[in-house]
Amino acid sequence: MGTTGLVIEFARTAGANGGIFKELIDRMEAAGGINRDVHLHCVYAIFDPELLKFIMQQMCEEAGVNILFHTFIEGAAMEDNTITGVIVVNKSGRQTLSSGVVIDCTGDGDVAVNAGADYRKGNDLTHSMQAMTLRIRIGGVNMLPVDWPEINARFEQERQKGINHFPEHVTKWLDAGGKGLHNERTFNLDMIMNADATNAWELSIAETEARKRVWEFISFAKNNIPGWENCYVIDTASHIGVRETRRIMGKYMLTEQEVRNAEKFSDGIARGSFGMDLHDPTEIAASPDPEDMEKHRKRTSPPPGEWYEIPYRCLIPVTVEAKPIQGLLTAGRCISADRRAGGSVRIMITCINTGQAAGIAAAESIRTKSPLDKLDGISLRLKLIQQQAEI
Ligand SMILES: Cc1cc2nc3c(=O)[nH]c(=O)nc-3n(C[C@H](O)[C@H](O)[C@H](O)COP(=O)(O)OP(=O)(O)OC[C@H]3O[C@@H](n4cnc5c(N)ncnc54)[C@H](O)[C@@H]3O)c2cc1C
Repeated sequence: MGTTGLVIEFARTAGANGGIFKELIDRMEAAGGINRDVHLHCVYAIFDPELLKFIMQQMCEEAGVNILFHTFIEGAAMEDNTITGVIVVNKSGRQTLSSGVVIDCTGDGDVAVNAGADYRKGNDLTHSMQAMTLRIRIGGVNMLPVDWPEINARFEQERQKGINHFPEHVTKWLDAGGKGLHNERTFNLDMIMNADATNAWELSIAETEARKRVWEFISFAKNNIPGWENCYVIDTASHIGVRETRRIMGKYMLTEQEVRNAEKFSDGIARGSFGMDLHDPTEIAASPDPEDMEKHRKRTSPPPGEWYEIPYRCLIPVTVEAKPIQGLLTAGRCISADRRAGGSVRIMITCINTGQAAGIAAAESIRTKSPLDKLDGISLRLKLIQQQAEI
């Protein structure tokens, strides 16, 4: 999402001061592509997404990673309850890539689902999922002070007349974007409600509709926002932003209460402290009042200065019979958490930290020939500490 999705802000959380994430942002800083001096409660740093692509590519190359772009995973190669690789499709055709361990970082848990993992999707009762947003970067904006309540009211009037097609609850939020690294404006409104990003047709319709809404907003902005008369779209994300789909059930499921109570675990492999941020009209986070949203995040965070930990067991997918799938880990927003805890885990720094832990576990499993679910979580934690991860 930080590259193809144009999500150009790392949200503020515990766990930012170490490990691969710190290496990444130190490199970004040395290259002049990140600003950590943002002074916003919920934002840790804003960055240049083009530079992020390049730095991550460099880090992969230096680590000896074989990068295979333009490749889609369509299935899991299985031998009984063990995953032995992934089935991919690309310009070379269909192939099976074998692997000692597979780490599913697809956000949607595509591999784990193909391997037979149990999962939950969105709201447990209604299965509705958080809003999707096509992120954009807008140039040509003169940063004059703007009377946002007045502008929001005009945008809402246009919505009522059918001139724009934004969901009602977000038309009072036009200032919800932010400033990019190069003074461009970004735009983070909840554009598409009630769509399922694991359904290819719904995903495509969502992206098509969102693109229309981007241009509705630009047309409105040129005519209504002082200083925005000459604004233009620098770029729209090449993939609509997906906040929520499947949560892959693991040996352990992190819960809302554990996030609130700043729970610690002996096999804790990553920490987080962001509020449980759910862009869903049934949750107060989607309230029309931006202040409510800020209060909501604070209310749903661990106590100030505290953090919760994510147990290693949340990365080990299980079947509906609660049997671990051998050779498979998850990392990122699809790890095992209840819906609200997932609303905190899903921010990028926390996702990156779970990725580092999964990588260490995979290497240890292969080196010691131990099944992933038999690895000692405490020694994984120690290895992370040796790698200067903040845990
Ligand atoms: C609009 C929006 C705003 C957000 N704002 C913030 C913010 O301000 N700060 C913050 O920290 N977080 C924010 N988030 C949350 C954060 O960006 C995501 O939750 C996080 O990036 C998820 O990381 P991930 O690695 O799990 O998944 P992703 O970043 O989605 O990466 C998944 C990758 O897997 C690939 N993939 C998926 N399926 C397949 C397949 N079958 N085969 C091959 N490849 C596949 C995708 O192309 C993608 O490259 C925002 C999210 C959205 C959508």
